[in-house]
Amino acid sequence: MPALFGIIGYPVHHSLSPIMHNAAFRAARLDSYYLAFEVEPRRLADAMRALLALGIRGVNVTIPYKERIRRYLDACTTEADWIGAVNTVAARNGRLIGHNTDGAGFLQAYRKTIGLPLRGQRVLLIGAGGAARAVAMTLVREGIGELQIANRTPARTHTIVRRLRRAGGGTVVEALGLSALRTLPAPDLLINATPLGMKGHGALPVPRTLLAHTPIVCDLVYTPPITPLLRAARETGAKTMGGLNLLLHQGALSFEYWTGRPAPLKIMWAALSHACRQEA
Ligand code: NAP
Repeated sequence: MPALFGIIGYPVHHSLSPIMHNAAFRAARLDSYYLAFEVEPRRLADAMRALLALGIRGVNVTIPYKERIRRYLDACTTEADWIGAVNTVAARNGRLIGHNTDGAGFLQAYRKTIGLPLRGQRVLLIGAGGAARAVAMTLVREGIGELQIANRTPARTHTIVRRLRRAGGGTVVEALGLSALRTLPAPDLLINATPLGMKGHGALPVPRTLLAHTPIVCDLVYTPPITPLLRAARETGAKTMGGLNLLLHQGALSFEYWTGRPAPLKIMWAALSHACRQEA
């Protein structure tokens, strides 16, 4: 019997995950299929009950459900528990297990595209949502020297900072207000983990002056693949990584979590690149 996977979100029609995962299943010769499930908020509980009833083997979870989905799961991995957000669910022996591949996906993408050591670096992270928490934990585990986190809602930043400090490690972690960005010395690495720069979400997430001396800039946004932030950073000669690289690697880790097989990365990347060219 074919195995069914999918992505749950609202809205979800923009997602490139079905194209990427279906290409991966074909390349791996698996009789498996991946669909986008656009689930209205009032239907989320029904949709989660239906996963087991219909024999769906796994789903990715996207905005706005990465946090809310946890109440419908039987267990979560330590990773997902710490981050407080789930982007991958697997159905195993009649139980739904939540996992999060965003942090590990970011690290793999960073190693492949930027390829420079993170240890000892001073990093400025914009945003304090689920993706920011996943990236922050990964960076601290990698032994960065200093992590400054700036967010529109300061209370969320303070929560992450407290949790990162409790987790220990040698990284100095600091919460910043967005207004501090106007006079902040340039970091070694800047990461945008907000939707700013996404189609329809306008502006740069940081003042342009901050980019003048920032050598590495990553944006988690992938629509468009070259965001205004990445374009501005490239103009100053910075190395950049776009959200499409994260989409690939977090998706590859979900594929491996579900199937136990290595993900066909080249095929998945080709599918994503082709879809982006079609959309451009
Ligand atoms: P989330 O949990 O909803 O968090 C959104 C974050 O962005 C919060 O810190 C929020 O600040 C901030 N924000 C939202 N609108 C803003 C605005 N107009 N101005 C300033 N800050 C704003 O979302 P998430 O899951 O962390 O995702 C964040 C971004 O990363 C999204 O664009 C998502 O598409 C992208 N992402 C990409 C991948 C990938 O595979 N490439 C994976 C995960 C996430 P407040 O706390 O003040 O609300």
